[in-house]
Amino acid sequence: TEMSPVFNPATGLITARVSVGHLKDVAAAVAAAKAAFPAWSSTTPLRRARVMFKFKELLERDAKKIAACISSEHGKVFSDAMGEFTRGLEVVEFACGAPQLLKGEFSEQVGTGIDAYSFRQPLGVVAGITPFNFPFMVPLWMIPVALVCGNTFVLKPSERDPSCSLLIAQLLQEAGLPDGVFNVVQGGKIAVDALLHHPDVQAISFVGSTPIAQYLYTTGTAAGKRVQALGGAKNHLVVMPDADLQQAVDALTGAAFGSAGERCMAISVAVAVGEIADTLVAQLAQRARALKIGTGLMGSGENVADSGMDMGPLVTATHLAKVKEYVDSGVAQGATLVVDGRNRPADVPPEGFFMGGCLFDHVTPEMRIYQEEIFGPVLVVLRVDTFEQALALINQHTFGNGTAIFTLNGNT
Ligand code: NAD
Repeated sequence: TEMSPVFNPATGLITARVSVGHLKDVAAAVAAAKAAFPAWSSTTPLRRARVMFKFKELLERDAKKIAACISSEHGKVFSDAMGEFTRGLEVVEFACGAPQLLKGEFSEQVGTGIDAYSFRQPLGVVAGITPFNFPFMVPLWMIPVALVCGNTFVLKPSERDPSCSLLIAQLLQEAGLPDGVFNVVQGGKIAVDALLHHPDVQAISFVGSTPIAQYLYTTGTAAGKRVQALGGAKNHLVVMPDADLQQAVDALTGAAFGSAGERCMAISVAVAVGEIADTLVAQLAQRARALKIGTGLMGSGENVADSGMDMGPLVTATHLAKVKEYVDSGVAQGATLVVDGRNRPADVPPEGFFMGGCLFDHVTPEMRIYQEEIFGPVLVVLRVDTFEQALALINQHTFGNGTAIFTLNGNT
């Protein structure tokens, strides 16, 4: 079997090796899911939800273990990993309501003497393809809901932090999920392509970068599958002249540098309106320089704990290099690099994939650091004169996801 290395980004050491799934692995997983479908889909919603109740209990029991797993392969600090855990758990809680959520509708007399009713049916074998940045939460956006509806599932998690997917599988099994209902295939493009072309896969949920989302959507729908594909982001935060500056700076620091900026909801652009810009940049610079950077996890086993750091390493050496290249491009295109985090921060493990927070001022819309998703701890500031200009800027950007506006003494 072909294997690929999995790193602990804080130490730079290889901690595991993950098998690279091929056609035959996908075929075996889909066959198992297909074989399990008739029995699982005819199990009552109540019984299916009961498995989720048990799963929820087991997840809570193993919360720290799961968060430690997230932190040690992704690099985010333990408290961020616990936040991710909670967000994932919420979907399991939602899915516990399946008997109510799956209710249908009845319409009397849609024509003379004709009544109509609708009900929800599972599709069959469905697949999830997920990104590295939330190795627990994003798979759980998909799995609990698909399963309680009566589908059977094949997950293809990110090859960069694959271990969480196996914890999920073990706990589902312990919760009483019948064999074959949930399956994991590891790997990258080869496994994804095999799922995209497999005639027994009815639907695919994807979360990841935009080019791959577009590829998945085009290829999957051409093969007759239902596909939902969520892509990349660039989120703006507008700071109005009358904003509570302290609050805006706090929010920006957490949203730009938390999880080293590797969040689809990270704020990577601050739009300063009017005369607030100079003070805003000065305060942001102070905060970016003061970030506590280091390993996000302390201890092991039951004694794992948060290290009190604000920011951990980036996920891989390759990604670290890519983010630094973006910073280089910003400098080359004439933006003012107010805080340069390209050098290794002090007191971090020498082989870890660390960098410091970066802050750019006087960024303009044609620069790559504004147009593209960097997915690292890099905050760019654009200056405009009016609220209308700020809105126009946001509306013209190719990416979306979320926008925040800070104005009127703290009302956002
Ligand atoms: P990615 O696109 O590199 O990978 C996502 C998945 O696709 C992985 O499972 C990967 O193995 C697979 N993949 C990678 N290259 C492929 C290829 N050529 N063909 C087929 N499959 C391929 O994304 P990532 O770097 O793991 O995750 C970060 C991205 O995800 C960011 O762009 C981020 O904004 C986005 N994201 C979006 C949301 C959202 O809700 N919109 C949420 C989380 C992450």
